Amino acid sequence: MKKFGVMISEVLPHLGRKPATILYPFERVPVPETLRGKPVLDTEKCRGCRVCVCEMVCPAEACKKITIGEDVERLAFWYDRCVFCGECAERCPYGAVTMTKEFELAAYDLDSLYAHPEFPKSEEALQYIEKLRERRRMKEQREKEGTKVQCDKKADGNEKQQN
Ligand code: SF4
Ligand code: SF4
Repeated sequence: MKKFGVMISEVLPHLGRKPATILYPFERVPVPETLRGKPVLDTEKCRGCRVCVCEMVCPAEACKKITIGEDVERLAFWYDRCVFCGECAERCPYGAVTMTKEFELAAYDLDSLYAHPEFPKSEEALQYIEKLRERRRMKEQREKEGTKVQCDKKADGNEKQQN
């Protein structure tokens, strides 16, 4: 009965209040002005610098220069790797990269998180995607093996304790 009284005293003051949550995704709250969302490339401004600043500064290997024609190089993004740090936009000497406010980038497949405005599936890009997939597979394999070793050690320890 005491608990019921405590509960009522908690509930009653909140009955007349507006909910603190919203019905996302049907309702949205405005994002902050300074939000760093999906980086996008302005192909008109991008010069495909010989020493690509974006490629060099990206801490996540999420942007890479791709050859799209004879002597033409442009930047491609892998949004599944991007950590939205904004370095690429900050360092591009031609202002070719902009951090947009788009942040809902969830997707069912890896390929749809790859973006190159002029040449969506270049051979070079596909190879890069495959390399990343291989790296991920190896990491998962290592993690699996690590878990197995830990389980085996634990089982050994339990056996010794029982003996
Ligand atoms: S985005 Fe900027 S730094 Fe990167 S290749 Fe294009 S011009 Fe060069
Ligand atoms: S925002 Fe950061 S992580 Fe994403 S592509 Fe640019 S430099 Fe790389």
